[in-house]
Amino acid sequence: MEENHTKPAKLIKGIHISRMNAAIITASVVLYILLTATALHVSKTIQETYQAIQEYFLCMQTGWTFSEGSDYLTDYARLYVVTADRACMDEYFAEVRETRRREDAVEDLTEFELEEDAYTYFQSALDKSQALMEQEIYAMALTSLAQGYEEASLPQEVQDAALTEADRALSKEALLAKAQDLVFGPSYREAQEQIEWDVDESMEALSGTVGRHLDNGYSSLYRAMRYHRILIGAHVAATLVGFAFTLLLVVLPMWGFVKAIRERKSLRVAGAYECKCLAQTCNAMFARITNDERMLRHQAEHDALTGLLNRGAFDALQDSLQTHDGPLALLLVDVDKFKQVNDGYGHEMGDKVLKKVSGLLAENFRATDYPARIGGDEFAVIVLEAVPEERSAIAAKIAAINELLTNPTDGLPVVSLSVGGAFSEGGFTGSLYKEADLALYEVKEHGRCGCRFYTPEAARV
Ligand code: GH3
Ligand code: MG
Repeated sequence: MEENHTKPAKLIKGIHISRMNAAIITASVVLYILLTATALHVSKTIQETYQAIQEYFLCMQTGWTFSEGSDYLTDYARLYVVTADRACMDEYFAEVRETRRREDAVEDLTEFELEEDAYTYFQSALDKSQALMEQEIYAMALTSLAQGYEEASLPQEVQDAALTEADRALSKEALLAKAQDLVFGPSYREAQEQIEWDVDESMEALSGTVGRHLDNGYSSLYRAMRYHRILIGAHVAATLVGFAFTLLLVVLPMWGFVKAIRERKSLRVAGAYECKCLAQTCNAMFARITNDERMLRHQAEHDALTGLLNRGAFDALQDSLQTHDGPLALLLVDVDKFKQVNDGYGHEMGDKVLKKVSGLLAENFRATDYPARIGGDEFAVIVLEAVPEERSAIAAKIAAINELLTNPTDGLPVVSLSVGGAFSEGGFTGSLYKEADLALYEVKEHGRCGCRFYTPEAARV
């Protein structure tokens, strides 16, 4: 029995909850890192796109500022040529020297990372505007000469305009006509259109750059969002798998264990590795408890010296057989003059004799019969399904036992048994014990070492 307890635990295979948790945590961490990286990428893309749009608007603004500056110069040059109002010339040179919208615009543009095209067109527009400005200043110098303004009072740029000798020789009307032709004539308008065209081209190149930025931003965003959806899907799937694993490998087996423990059944070794270990350990523990219970029950029901049923178990058996639906016989057995064995050979020898007697009783009766030790040197045997016709067979068994006891070959002292028996047609009746005892008494009275059965006639004598 003890062997079962010390057997090594069976090699258990199965999914370890600890490893599964570690895998789920690792997968979650990886997913979160990827999700965070994707989110950062998305936010960077949005920021870049926003920046590109902002730059586009700033560039457009710069383009408009350039055009405004250029138009301003045209307007005041023309006004001066037409009106000869010096305030107009002052406005013109205030723009040239202080406001400087065109130069500032070009300078602003250099701060942006523009396509080369956009910058080249802008530079070309500035160069053309610069050339046109020389034409305007020349027209203003012609106008000033026509008006007879003192040269020293004119702005330095106008003084520096080197008027040709031929122009200097022109009449006032001719001077004014030439001046007007320079700022209103077809060549001026053509140059102006060139500048506008350059600015438009520059803006177009700029919008192309921004468009590409937006396209890149959109496709990057689209890819990131798709990646994001896949990661979220993977996360949901991992969560569901984790839930299913927990349900199948932990929760359901645990409920099975609880049910089995309540019903005192052995646990089905199922589920995750840890659950299987638990089930196996519980089963081993149950086996040990059952074994201990069996041993305790055996100890409680059996006589420690002989191993036969003890008095308590005999009484319980007697009670349970009261309702037995069949015949039976009760034999009461007493060792003759046993005290003398104890006195003559010692208590230990007496014990050996008692063991020998119990062994012989157990051997000579059937496995279905119940031999018991009911007192010091008193035994009883309940023989199931025995009928009075079997008296002689039972008496023969007792005679055979007495034969062995009176002719010992094992060095034990000679002893004999007195046996009184009684029969019942149905179950263990209330008088059966007394009847068997009367029969035993008779044997004792008639010289011991023998077997007699109770009869009503004998009882009456
Ligand atoms: P009788 O033939 O009339 O039965 O005489 P007897 O000497 O056998 O008398 P009795 O049956 O009354 O004696 C029983 C003796 O059994 C008394 C007691 O000392 C002894 N005894 C009781 N239990 C044990 C035991 O466990 N071991 C041993 N060695 N002796 C026991
Ligand atoms: Mg006795």
